[in-house]
Amino acid sequence: MPVPDEEDPKEPTPAREIAVVDLYESHDLVEMEVVEDAILLEPEPEPEPLPPPVPQREIVLIGAGHAHLQIVQWWRKRPLHGVRMTLVSAFDRAAYSGMLAGVIAGRFEPEEMLIDLPKLCERSNVQLIVDRAIRLDPKARQIELAHQPALSFDVASINIGSVPGQERLWQSHRMLLSVKPMATFWQRFQIRQQEMLVQWREAELPKRLQFAVVGAGAAGVELALCLEERIHNEDLPIDMHLVDAANEVWRSASPGAIRRARKLLKHRGIDLHLGQRVVDCDEDGPSALVFEDGSRLRCDLAIWATAAAAPAVLQGFHLPRSEKGFVLVDRTLRTSADVPVFAAGDTADFPIPVPKAGVYSVRQGPILWHNLRAVLTGKPLKIYHPQRGSLVLLACGDGTAILDYKGWSLRSGWAWALKCGIDRAFVRRFR
Ligand SMILES: Cc1cc2nc3c(=O)[nH]c(=O)nc-3n(C[C@H](O)[C@H](O)[C@H](O)COP(=O)(O)OP(=O)(O)OC[C@H]3O[C@@H](n4cnc5c(N)ncnc54)[C@H](O)[C@@H]3O)c2cc1C
Repeated sequence: MPVPDEEDPKEPTPAREIAVVDLYESHDLVEMEVVEDAILLEPEPEPEPLPPPVPQREIVLIGAGHAHLQIVQWWRKRPLHGVRMTLVSAFDRAAYSGMLAGVIAGRFEPEEMLIDLPKLCERSNVQLIVDRAIRLDPKARQIELAHQPALSFDVASINIGSVPGQERLWQSHRMLLSVKPMATFWQRFQIRQQEMLVQWREAELPKRLQFAVVGAGAAGVELALCLEERIHNEDLPIDMHLVDAANEVWRSASPGAIRRARKLLKHRGIDLHLGQRVVDCDEDGPSALVFEDGSRLRCDLAIWATAAAAPAVLQGFHLPRSEKGFVLVDRTLRTSADVPVFAAGDTADFPIPVPKAGVYSVRQGPILWHNLRAVLTGKPLKIYHPQRGSLVLLACGDGTAILDYKGWSLRSGWAWALKCGIDRAFVRRFR
């Protein structure tokens, strides 16, 4: 995932901020002299220290998505005087999706993909609230949280990502394991896999366990290949399936990259079930995925990784939304609400189609950074221009990756090394 410039270089540091800080320092010195004189005349209790300047305005960032992580980091060097920044995050760790499949394959340690938010926020002097935002009222300029008091804001931004489609289905069946929330995926997966293996051994079942990945986009193909690698290395009694309603895998890729992925899936013995939409699960007796045509696939555990859909929680954010339920923004990433509310990453739908991928969220970071500040300093907003295509590196789990760029593809160990380097560098920025 390409890494943009760390700071917006065209934004000079306002001279006013420095002047205000100097004023506070000299004021402290004057107070101290007065106190010393008073002690000579008659002893009096020490005066109360000056209270710290009260923040006058509030920027609230909802969700520790890729765009917000950068903003928190940049705030460290370039805060606005009299403004407090708050990050609301559902978890105290943010997971970097580019490394999840590598964790499953055993190529990264699980902690390597996690960003420690308390540490990041403390360093940047950003208030962190670990809770889920459940409602946003633009008129009252209030954000309600699941467990803590509501927050007021002058400027807000939403970067809470997306969820796999058919949320109602995967929320209601234990055999389905959603890739989101990603911060808890690895833990949830390990618990479920362990349960299945214990049951299998105790029952001395003659048949092997059946695992599936539902959704054969880039993420699903990557997850299936990396999970198969783990199963192979640990010699687990599990067969792998990859299921999708579409008739092709990884449809956003070039024909060459699709051919390479197909060949590898076949070579690894991963069964493809294309043109099959999962509409239900049968969990009575030997569990199964139920397809639209009524047929079934025996399945003990299915990782749900279907295309990005709007999180249900957005229904409580009283903002204009697209047909698909995402937050509608203009090219400055601003919603049409009467008060300044922005959205970025998967959560946002633009006037032009922008792919739902982390790399786009990263590139929206500098525009969002400029525009959040511009609203408070009275500067013009900047326009976001999405990049035309991006380099895709798909982990195969075996120390190789498929590289796909502008119609050109290859599979090699070199591509995997490149992916590791880019991914590790991204996470390192926030450590
Ligand atoms: C297995 C897998 C691999 C992928 N690999 C890549 C890749 O290599 N490159 C790429 O470009 N894309 C990849 N993607 C897609 C990518 O993960 C998403 O497009 C990207 O994460 C979206 O980023 P975001 O900034 O919108 O938000 P996210 O990174 O999804 O972050 C959203 C954050 O908001 C938090 N949150 C959610 N709801 C709330 C709430 N109500 N209140 C507070 N906080 C909340 C979440 O906990 C999370 O920390 C992959 C996806 C998957 C599933």
